[in-house]
Formats: sequence, C-alpha cells, structure tokens
Amino acid sequence: MRLIIMGPPGAGKGTQAKFIAEHFGIPAISTGDIFRANVTAGTPLGVEAKRYMDAGEYVPDEVTNLMVRDRIDEPDAEPGFLLDGYPRTLAQVEELDGMIAFTGHALDAVVVLTVDQDEIVQRLVQRAELEGRADDTEEVIRRRQELYTEQTEPLVEVYRQRGLLLELDGTGEVEEVTQRIFEALDVVPQS
Ligand code: AMP
Repeated sequence: MRLIIMGPPGAGKGTQAKFIAEHFGIPAISTGDIFRANVTAGTPLGVEAKRYMDAGEYVPDEVTNLMVRDRIDEPDAEPGFLLDGYPRTLAQVEELDGMIAFTGHALDAVVVLTVDQDEIVQRLVQRAELEGRADDTEEVIRRRQELYTEQTEPLVEVYRQRGLLLELDGTGEVEEVTQRIFEALDVVPQS
C-alpha cells in the first residue's frame, strides 16, 4: 500500500497518519518529523532545514527529495508507506513519481483532509500562545497556510485527475475522522 495524506497545516494529518499506517502495517513517513529530528540532533541537514522551518517556508526541493528517497529505500518501506507532508510542490510530485516507478509499484490513494483554514489558524495561534511557542507567531502560522494554498493545494487537482483522490471532511472528533478514512480506504484495491 502506497499512500499520501494531505491537508493544510493543523488539519490533523500526523495524528491520522499514525492510525492509518498502523492499520496497514506500513511506516508513516513524515518529512516534518524527519526534519525536526535532524534539527534536534544538530545535523547539517537540520541546520539547513531550520532556517526555512522557523520562517514557515518550505525547505528546498532538492534537499527534501533526497531525504525522502533515502527514507523510502529503507527495508521497512518495501511493502509500502504512508507519506505525511510530502509531496508539497509539483516538482516533488514528479520526483516521487520517479521514485515509485523505479520500484515497479504505483501510488494507491491520496487522502486529503478538508478543513476550514481560518478556524485552524485561530486554533494554532491560541495553542502557540498557551504552549509559549514564541517561534510559532501568527505571522509564521499564516505564512504556512498561504504556502499550502499557493504551492500544495494545486496537487489535489493533479491527483484527482489521476483518479487517486479521496477527499474527506477532516473536522470533528479524531475517531470520527479516522473512521471516515478507513471506510474510504478499504475500498481501494491494493497494489
Ligand atoms: P510539517 O510538520 O509537515 O508541518 O512540516 C514542518 C516544516 O518542515 C514545514 O513547515 C516545512 O518548513 C518543512 N517541510 C516538511 N515537509 C516538507 C516538504 N515536503 N517540502 C518542503 N518543506 C517541508
């Protein structure tokens, strides 16, 4: 099973990704998590990525693509994977197509969680204040949403045209959303 989960920042992708991955026995690969682990470990990749992440900008495609290529080459991703936070640009879509084609497999489905972006921004701003996350300013939070709309949302149409899209309501309790995703995914034939 080769899956992608998409949605604006704060839509709950990471939470749902873990449930889906567990259900199918595949790794959930979050580019944001890999970048954060590198930042914490102080690796050269982390140092480079941090500059972009702190500003709410995307890390350059070349850096991100190489990192994903290495990760999906790991043995645990051989039976499949769920990508969370990748691809985010049209150039990344092309790269991913190449990586998957190289293994002789295909993407099975792309889950998109739809939510009200204004509501999310309010929630993220409040959370940042409560948790004292000074680096997550309203400006940075808005910039992340803006980039999603400009650069990532167009990917939805690409995958819709390929007949891979499962567009689902991401609002409501976590379990409700998980249920919606499972119902939608169980009808997708596995490759
Ligand atoms: P996330 O946890 O998925 O929201 O990712 C956190 C941050 O990591 C993003 O705001 C970007 O700066 C960076 N990032 C994660 N995935 C990508 C990607 N596919 N392309 C570029 N930057 C990314």
